[in-house]
Amino acid sequence: MFCVVALLLAATAGCSDDSSNQDSNKAPYDKAAANAALTKDDTGQLQKPSNAENNQSAAYEATRNTGIKKRDQFYAMGTLIEVITYDVDKAVHVKAIQEIEAMFLALSRRWQPWPQPNQADGELAIINKNLLAGLAAPSNEQFNRIMLEATELSVASRGFFNPAVGKLVQLWGFDGKSDKPLISAPLAEDINALVGAKHGMHLLRFTANSVSSVEPLALDFGAFLKGYAVDRAVDILRDYSITNGLVEAGGDLRAIGQAGDRPWRIGIRNPRQSGVLAVIEMQSGESIFTSGDYERFFEVEVDDLAKPINQNESDSQARVFAKKKQRFHHILDPRTGYPAANTVSVTVITKNGALADAAATALFVAGPSQWYKVAASMGVKHVLLMDVDGNVYLNPAMAGRVQFKSTPKGAITLSKPLR
Ligand code: AMP
Ligand code: MG
Repeated sequence: MFCVVALLLAATAGCSDDSSNQDSNKAPYDKAAANAALTKDDTGQLQKPSNAENNQSAAYEATRNTGIKKRDQFYAMGTLIEVITYDVDKAVHVKAIQEIEAMFLALSRRWQPWPQPNQADGELAIINKNLLAGLAAPSNEQFNRIMLEATELSVASRGFFNPAVGKLVQLWGFDGKSDKPLISAPLAEDINALVGAKHGMHLLRFTANSVSSVEPLALDFGAFLKGYAVDRAVDILRDYSITNGLVEAGGDLRAIGQAGDRPWRIGIRNPRQSGVLAVIEMQSGESIFTSGDYERFFEVEVDDLAKPINQNESDSQARVFAKKKQRFHHILDPRTGYPAANTVSVTVITKNGALADAAATALFVAGPSQWYKVAASMGVKHVLLMDVDGNVYLNPAMAGRVQFKSTPKGAITLSKPLR
């Protein structure tokens, strides 16, 4: 049972600038390109534009403090990756960034679901080609471990997170390959052929050096890989004895330690307006991931059935309607094959980035009616979901963490505690 509560919205406290920080590391990355994607508003928060390729949903606050900040950015996995450290020797910082960048680029190439022009096929592209042909594919210990971890998360999510939707993602044109965006939904019969029990992780079979599937299918780890990579990046920071750092991949991130002498403060983007919906202080080691319908989508003009223009027209076939835009986004409901209805964004905090990533996607699909059940079965303890009407749903532990910076359009509903 849920109860609606009125949360006192915190007045927007002006955030201080970071003029006392020394951004002392000018490492050899394409900063001009990276900085073009970032602008600072007058509160000192880094705001990022929303577009198809830069699915940034969060922004961290630059706070005045005594620490010495170093920040680097690069592109990988179709998005901007940013690494920040505090109080780290420059040479150590640079080495850690280089290792993190190499790791992101390797994962992105190896886990790319489909062949890429001018590139040798990565392991997953080869696996998909074989699985679709009904053949066993070469795999290895590392690949099997990641696929098994994703399978466990898929089961825990009750199938809402389902990396076996690879063909469906491709059909909808969200595989990052289509040069022309779709201008209409795919045919219903094509969608229906790609849903149901024949497209699930439970169909995979592993040996030490191979993977096969009981049914032909294709895998897409786009809902999970950034989380996995962010966890590995934090491992690398720790390998270099860096205790205060943050790794952000297109708005999703994991932070360790503090931002100088203060906790890392993260802004949750308002999905339907510019600016920040809420701010959260991170505890060391935590990840915060958001899945949103604004990250990748196309819109189609459709008749607005609520607004007939010629009301008196008796022949319904000939009736003319006003037009409205229908949004088709990239988070697909494995039960229907269509973009998940009802949700605009879900933010999840967990210790583990891979879990946070998979859970944000799963809870997005589960929507306002089922998110609580799925969060409980995935072991997630902090959730904030906004539905298509602007209503916000969150559990009490999350309510204790968020500081709202703008008023949601709808009601705020507090769930039972997540244990
Ligand atoms: P995220 O932004 O983490 O929610 O991941 C979305 C991406 O994951 C999409 O662009 C697809 O590549 C893939 N995807 C879409 N729907 C699902 C789903 N229900 N389960 C797993 N992966 C999905
Ligand atoms: Mg995800």
